[in-house]
Amino acid sequence: MSSENIHLFNTLTRSKERFVPIEKGHVRMYTCGPTVYDYSHIGNMRAFLFEDLLKRWLEYRGFKVTHVMNLTDVDDRTIKAARSQGIPIKQHTERFIQAFFEDIAILNIEKADIFPKATDHIPGMVALVKKLLDKGYAYRSEDGSIYFNISKFKDYGKLAKIQVGKLKAGARVKVDEYEKEQASDFVLWKAWDPDDGDVFWETEIGKGRPGWHIECSTMSMKYLGETFDIHCGGVDNLFPHHENEIAQSEAATGKKFVNYWLHNEHLLVEGKKMAKRLGNYFTVRDLTAKGYDPVAIRYLMMSTHYRQQLNFTFEGLDAAKKTLDRLTNFMHRLLEANGTAGGDDIQQLMEKMQKGFEEAMDDDLNISIALAHVFDFVRDVNNLLDSNLVSREQALEIHNLMLRFDKALGVIGEVYKEEKLPKDAEELISRREEARKAKDWKTADQIREQLKTMGIVIEDTAQGVRWRTEKH
Ligand SMILES: [Zn+2]
Repeated sequence: MSSENIHLFNTLTRSKERFVPIEKGHVRMYTCGPTVYDYSHIGNMRAFLFEDLLKRWLEYRGFKVTHVMNLTDVDDRTIKAARSQGIPIKQHTERFIQAFFEDIAILNIEKADIFPKATDHIPGMVALVKKLLDKGYAYRSEDGSIYFNISKFKDYGKLAKIQVGKLKAGARVKVDEYEKEQASDFVLWKAWDPDDGDVFWETEIGKGRPGWHIECSTMSMKYLGETFDIHCGGVDNLFPHHENEIAQSEAATGKKFVNYWLHNEHLLVEGKKMAKRLGNYFTVRDLTAKGYDPVAIRYLMMSTHYRQQLNFTFEGLDAAKKTLDRLTNFMHRLLEANGTAGGDDIQQLMEKMQKGFEEAMDDDLNISIALAHVFDFVRDVNNLLDSNLVSREQALEIHNLMLRFDKALGVIGEVYKEEKLPKDAEELISRREEARKAKDWKTADQIREQLKTMGIVIEDTAQGVRWRTEKH
């Protein structure tokens, strides 16, 4: 059963709305993916982490989610980057597609179901442009490029809340990115010019390449249908990218394109807008190279509400690491608990925390309130653990509840994963068990020493053998 209680802030209406997918129990979601001309920076990653939290929360609440994230492998920036390297565009973008997959894996971001590449969908884009020409929403300019006529689409500006009436008629913009104030007819198809080098397609609408916006309209509708549930992206994509996606798609189909638009706010680094020249520009690999834990990066970026500006600081990153340590210590303590049951208290605490956590997350992913419930609970249970008032059964129940939440948060399980025993250590432990059963103490001690050199300490307890890794 999926939940009927999730409320999400819809940029289209600027209000929180109850989330109801088109098909009961099934969410179709499109998120603008990376432009693979360089490594993604942490500002890009903030968007991907927000989208991951949203998707995980929908799954936690019982929805099946079909998630499509595009890879922009041809646009102004990819062409420029490949040309400056003097290599074919494909070679350049493939390298950064691989890097992107590595980065999302290290941040424990769930993979989309489909990662369509723009260059694999040129015929679909051509068909969409043709449809817009046929319907009179598009026209060809002197150089052969094809533009969308925004004065023909009466709803133009409905997402970014801009009035088109004041614009100069017929003004055109050929670059992919521009400001709200420059709203004008935008390019759907760019006729080849020498700056594009060997990047072009010979098609029935001419020799050239697609504009950036038509790529997303084509790929989202291909995989999710002409109307789908959720479209996300960073607030910087709201205009012109998403505004133009709506114009192209709705003009072509005559149907509403997307029901819920969600945008995450900007990321600042040490209080300033990230810029290479300010020395505060970071990719995920910059941070891991400095020795920072990727799970702490994930936690830090996720723990600020997505519609608030996030100030990324190194102090914050250290604090995130400490918080994670507190959580994992708590999980370890639970596994070791073996006290006397402390009455109904624990059941009540668990119910209160679960209710608080779920209600907060249902309320437009109110993560700070949700986490506050978790940490109040951790504190209370730690107090009970101190007094040995948590039984083994209760502790395991709490442990399972924490892991359930972690399906949405994606931070605790990761730390556990790192602590998995290497295969050869597993074998050694079972060989030692056999030796102990046979009362061969000498062999058992030898194996214990051998494990110790591998950084694994074992203890024999009433519940059986237990191991932990020795911190260096
Ligand atoms: Zn897009």
